[in-house]
Amino acid sequence: IVRAHGIHKHFGPLHVLRGVDLEVAERELVFVIGPSGSGKSTLLRCLNRLEEPSGGRIEVDGIDMLDRKTDINRARQRIGMVFQSFNLYPHMTALGNVALALRKVLGLPRGEAGARARAALDRVHLADRAGHYPGQLSGGQQQRVAIARAIALEPRVMLFDEPTSALDPELVGGVLQVMRELRESGMTMVVVSHEMGFARAAADRVVFMDHGLVVEEGPPEAVFGAPREERTRAFIRQID
Ligand code: ATP
Ligand code: MG
Repeated sequence: IVRAHGIHKHFGPLHVLRGVDLEVAERELVFVIGPSGSGKSTLLRCLNRLEEPSGGRIEVDGIDMLDRKTDINRARQRIGMVFQSFNLYPHMTALGNVALALRKVLGLPRGEAGARARAALDRVHLADRAGHYPGQLSGGQQQRVAIARAIALEPRVMLFDEPTSALDPELVGGVLQVMRELRESGMTMVVVSHEMGFARAAADRVVFMDHGLVVEEGPPEAVFGAPREERTRAFIRQID
């Protein structure tokens, strides 16, 4: 459902992505790991064109993301994204935040947006917090609202960039649980995260990046248990 080939990205003199290939099949959960600065976030941002690649081809759900003729706003509706920071509107309730996305992005009328927002909050186990403001929610609950906001738009792919990195340790589990359920419901997911336990348990495939290239990829047992490349071994030793 995602086909990215030969992705390059330059920031001025910095060559941050140096020909990355990434394919993700429908219902697959692909985990992307690698040292800080290896280009993981830039790769995710290129996939939904938050960042303009300097070269390569990207197709998501059959749509050429780099074609000038593609309506990029419509194409982006098929791609949900969740970041480390939740970016909720503080003056709106959880329900209001999710419903606003449905009204703005899909143009749904108020009543229908509200009903779909409630259903999305229910999927992240926050139905009882719908009327709370972000300031009245824990970081983990805020992140689950951000996930609800993304899945309410019914994307074909979800991209997660370190969704639990900003959370206190005791709040990480709830977010990972929601991600696990999302995966079980058949969502296609690309996850950048340091949660190696989650990767081992839930990932179909692990992609290790270093210096703007995919160095090694395979099932979690292989990449974590018997890495082929020295750079992968060094990285895994360091995080374990
Ligand atoms: P981390 O694990 O720390 O999040 P990462 O693998 O996500 O790292 P990126 O954020 O993709 O790495 O950054 C890759 C490189 O590109 C880094 O050297 C970074 O400083 C640089 N970079 C990222 N965004 C920009 C930008 N907008 N302008 C200039 N340089 C950037
Ligand atoms: Mg990053």
